[in-house]
Amino acid sequence: MLKPNMNYADLKDSYLFYNISQKIASYLEAHPGARLLRLGIGDVTLPLCEAVIGALKGAVDDQAAAETFHGYMPECGAPFLREAIAEHYRSRGVNISTDEVFVSSGASDELGDILDLFDRGNTALVIEPAYPAYVDANVMAGRKIIHVPSGEENGFLPAPPDASADGEDAVADIIYICSPNNPTGAVFGRELLKKWVDFANENGSVIIFDAAYEAFIEDASLPRSIFEIEGAKTCAIEICSLSKTAGFTGTRLGYTVIPKALSRCGMNLNAMWVRNRTTKTNGVSYIIQKGGAAVFTPEGREQIEANINYYKQNARILTEALDKAGVHYFGGRNAPYIWLRCPCGADSWSFFDFLLNEGQIVGTPGSGFGSCGEGWFRFSTFGSRNDTEEAAKRLARLIPNFKP
Ligand SMILES: *Cc1c(COP(=O)(O)O)cnc(C)c1O
Repeated sequence: MLKPNMNYADLKDSYLFYNISQKIASYLEAHPGARLLRLGIGDVTLPLCEAVIGALKGAVDDQAAAETFHGYMPECGAPFLREAIAEHYRSRGVNISTDEVFVSSGASDELGDILDLFDRGNTALVIEPAYPAYVDANVMAGRKIIHVPSGEENGFLPAPPDASADGEDAVADIIYICSPNNPTGAVFGRELLKKWVDFANENGSVIIFDAAYEAFIEDASLPRSIFEIEGAKTCAIEICSLSKTAGFTGTRLGYTVIPKALSRCGMNLNAMWVRNRTTKTNGVSYIIQKGGAAVFTPEGREQIEANINYYKQNARILTEALDKAGVHYFGGRNAPYIWLRCPCGADSWSFFDFLLNEGQIVGTPGSGFGSCGEGWFRFSTFGSRNDTEEAAKRLARLIPNFKP
């Protein structure tokens, strides 16, 4: 009999979004027609910008005539888009060559696929609270997970483990860093990121740097790419996405940077990924890549900047309300998430129930992102302005009366 991948039996059921939808459904059943203010979503709400729509339409027309028609695209990405992305890095002082950039169908796809490069006997270090896919993709492959909790004491930005104090078990082969972070909104500074880079180089680990939210960084002192850190080209892979940057969540486009200087055990990871892509994909749609390239034009940049500013304004509206209510939080600046401490020491789900029942506000309980998220709560700033303003008003009124 065929033996399936038995590692799937080791996956922990994630009830987070299921539980949220169940609670919403029963609330709406009891209160038909209630208008919910959705601050829980990790999806964007603004449409694609004009420059992207124009490019997508132009690319559809290209496909309508034999002279401009495109069939299979190069597996690692269209040269025009790889070049635009490399130039985008260079414009920020990071020297990346075109053949170090790989176009993908999004960061989630890539976060899973990239694990093909690594042995199943490797260990994976995940800083928690974390995006659940990091753990699950490695459990599916049977890898051992090293959970590194973070908390208020380090601003949700832990330093690398100390092999001499924490033991060899603390040294992982694959290290996940998500900065700006989902869910905490915390952003690694240069000095701390350099410590992780040094740690990875010393131990022969590889850092998977999830930069899905880099476009939300406004403080110039904070790194938007791990390749701004000296030494990163010999230990890091950067995974990026146009989902949050430019509203591509339903359109699907991302990119990955694998430096040519990244080798382990005599194997070059850039060359391995070329081999992987040419075997396992036939490239991303020409039309979508054309749309993506428009993001890197001056008009495109200006237009996506306006959308990002809209979400940043949402963040200001919410954080002002939290400030007034005396709620302690991280993020909301340089990141589209606000990570707040549940008032009065409440647990995450009690606060969720309170906001839903008393304010018709839907957020995300922090305990869904790992046990150290208990007692915390995530607001997304990707909602509509109307919902955000109304939620801010209700929060200012409700929180002072909250008694768990
Ligand atoms: C949204 C998100 C992504 C992006 O995923 P796509 O597949 O590109 O839409 C990646 N990482 C994190 C942490 C995210 O929150």
